[in-house]
Amino acid sequence: MGLGGNVGDVLSNMAGALTYLDRHPDIRLVSVSPVYKTPPWGITEQDWFHNACAELETALTPDELLEQCLGAEKNLKRIRKERWGPRNIDLDILIFGVLEVAHENLTIPHPRMHERIFVLKPLADLVPDLPINGRAVREWLADLDDEPLEQIVLEENWVSERG
Ligand code: ATP
Ligand code: CA
Ligand code: CA
Repeated sequence: MGLGGNVGDVLSNMAGALTYLDRHPDIRLVSVSPVYKTPPWGITEQDWFHNACAELETALTPDELLEQCLGAEKNLKRIRKERWGPRNIDLDILIFGVLEVAHENLTIPHPRMHERIFVLKPLADLVPDLPINGRAVREWLADLDDEPLEQIVLEENWVSERG
């Protein structure tokens, strides 16, 4: 899963979202990547984002997991204005094992993930060799290596501390 945001206390929102999902009986938070500060993508006239990736284990279907992600965003009072615009939290399902999904409301693998350094960098920290559209995460990342990015230094237990 990819997490991000650029409004308010984004680290607390990310921690809150991860804690919200981990509390679900059929979702377990396995690991969380480092957090990066990244320039905005798509609509560039807005603040830099914080971004990270998390690995979840779940017994839910992809649609059920999306519902929980949207529930976590709602719980954090995300205001949905324009796509790619400012937001306090955004949760995207990037990949779901080997499953591919092309529903009206859900596409997996996430169709834009391999173009986004703010996804690829934290994802490469977790699963560098994972194939996306036939190429490893770190190979996609190497194409974008000149884009700016800054790692945030955080305490080891920031998710439980801030969630
Ligand atoms: P992007 O999808 O390019 O990252 P975004 O995250 O800003 O854009 P949102 O407004 O957060 O877009 O989401 C709009 C809708 O995208 C969600 O309500 C959801 O139905 C749909 N969606 C499709 N595929 C996915 C996915 N893999 N993960 C999360 N949402 C998805
Ligand atoms: Ca997104
Ligand atoms: Ca989203």
